[in-house]
Amino acid sequence: MRLRLPEERPAEPPTGYKIAHPVLSQDGTRAGFTGVSLGGALPYGVLADASCVYGLRHRAPHRRCDCGFHCVHDRATAEGLLCTGEHRSAVLLDVTVLGAYIRFELGFRYARQRVRVATVGPCACGAVAVAFADAGWGRPGWLGLAAACAGCVRGRTSVSLAGFARLAGDGLRVVAGSGGGCRRSTRLRRRARGARTRRRGRAVAGPARLVPEPVGGTGGRGVRQRAQGVGELASASSRA
Ligand SMILES: [Zn+2]
Ligand SMILES: [Zn+2]
Repeated sequence: MRLRLPEERPAEPPTGYKIAHPVLSQDGTRAGFTGVSLGGALPYGVLADASCVYGLRHRAPHRRCDCGFHCVHDRATAEGLLCTGEHRSAVLLDVTVLGAYIRFELGFRYARQRVRVATVGPCACGAVAVAFADAGWGRPGWLGLAAACAGCVRGRTSVSLAGFARLAGDGLRVVAGSGGGCRRSTRLRRRARGARTRRRGRAVAGPARLVPEPVGGTGGRGVRQRAQGVGELASASSRA
């Protein structure tokens, strides 16, 4: 049943979008991101390699597994995910797909990733964010962060957007946007609504499957997208 997939050798690394929560290490010296779905496992840095989230001894992404980084092709699809209540404080990431990948209709599952730009929505009060502040949750050793304006930072642990970019390193740009996707414009609101509507009926696997985790692990084997191709950069090593 599984046909041989077309092999691709792009000259430039493919790009995509995903959403994630910014995190700050306990000692405040490192910054990164963590996936939005439950079981989001380990935070990842700007430049990171995926491994099999199930601990299986194969290289991610494996054809018969969910492992590897995930992203979607379409920015509006990723922005649409920011509309859901639990993802409102997540940020939008522009990523470069490095290493081996499997291409699907909606996005890629792949081996290695560079986060190029993190677009930060407004503070919960609606003002433009100037910092990331303690969001009140975390992972062992990592503090979850959320966008905050100068007034709402108050006494919370926080890091400026520029400071976050510096700690994350590897050329990351952090941009204060006006609202991820939901609040930006009517056009985008409509597109986001479209994305939500399309997801309806896919049960819980929806968002998790679309813009999953640092290292796979979307939990539950709901709807599987059909792979459309496999590939790797023509010169993988020189473009990391
Ligand atoms: Zn795997
Ligand atoms: Zn505020």
